[in-house]
Amino acid sequence: MSPSKPYLRIATEEAFAPPEMIRIYQKILAGSDVDPGFKGLMGFYISSPSERAQHIMRCLQDLDQIRLAHMDEAGIDHQVLALTAPGVQIMDKATAVSFARVANDFLADAVRRHPTRFTGMISLPVQDPQEAAKEIERGVTRLGMHSVVINSHTHGEYLSDPKFWDIFAAAEQHGTPIYLHPNSLPRNMLEPFQECGLDGAIYGFGVETGLHALRIITAGVFDRFPKLQMIIGHMGEALPFWSYRLDYMHQATVRSKRYDSIKPIHKKPSDYLRENFYITNSGVAWEPAIKFTQSIVGVDRVLYAMDYPYQYAAEEVQLLDRMDMSAEDKKKFFQTNAQKVFGISAL
Ligand code: MN
Repeated sequence: MSPSKPYLRIATEEAFAPPEMIRIYQKILAGSDVDPGFKGLMGFYISSPSERAQHIMRCLQDLDQIRLAHMDEAGIDHQVLALTAPGVQIMDKATAVSFARVANDFLADAVRRHPTRFTGMISLPVQDPQEAAKEIERGVTRLGMHSVVINSHTHGEYLSDPKFWDIFAAAEQHGTPIYLHPNSLPRNMLEPFQECGLDGAIYGFGVETGLHALRIITAGVFDRFPKLQMIIGHMGEALPFWSYRLDYMHQATVRSKRYDSIKPIHKKPSDYLRENFYITNSGVAWEPAIKFTQSIVGVDRVLYAMDYPYQYAAEEVQLLDRMDMSAEDKKKFFQTNAQKVFGISAL
């Protein structure tokens, strides 16, 4: 490696979509009583004639020439790939179970074609926690994958509900961290965000995914599964910035006995952020936010991500190369943390 490039750049929240999944989405969108958040998100990208939407649809479905050219152009050596939101979580249970396997096999093929450029995350049919747990095992033992992606809520349900905890048990057992990626907002949350155009990546995604991560923490998931690791993007969906108030008010709320639903947990919410979460800067190429997050969770827990193709901005890579940060910490941020978390060996 040349002295001008003392580390590899690994982008860790990069999206893809098999063409077959787009066809399933088209069928769902043509049906009755379509989820309004899904319609607002994938309904737009699939049908809009805008240059941005058509470009994103092309890039999402390519795991060869177009993507590799964009990676080379931006200086990205390696992508960690996740089935784009909402993945199979918008499908009915039976379709989700069967298509998660198809999507994971499709991704494993791409990784086999380009082993030094791609690593895959396992997609899960969250609707069926027992089948999801089996798919984690299959992903690890048969497909050589070492991490999982879940696109936030599933039909408005959250992983804080113990009925989903077979998934956490399997993830802890196999040592596969779970990337909690945003989804479009659930029906009962959408309106006040959508009526002012703020439901998407601009704000709503972060609010909903941050809420989801916090629900997992306050439900005691990490007391039950202490070795479980999760990853959240977009600078931790603002949770590091909230951590002082979360710690203070969690303790005050438990003491007040105001809610049956908020029970004592072993540690402060921010302790779980430091011990059970990795945070990527997907979509946030902003030095002050990256350094602040490093100061809260430590330099070993903050990783680089681009959020391709939704936020493909080649110039952001050079901007981050120029951060005022030690060479050692920059290498952790761009390369070695990702190698450890996602089990990347073929580089
Ligand atoms: Mn993303």
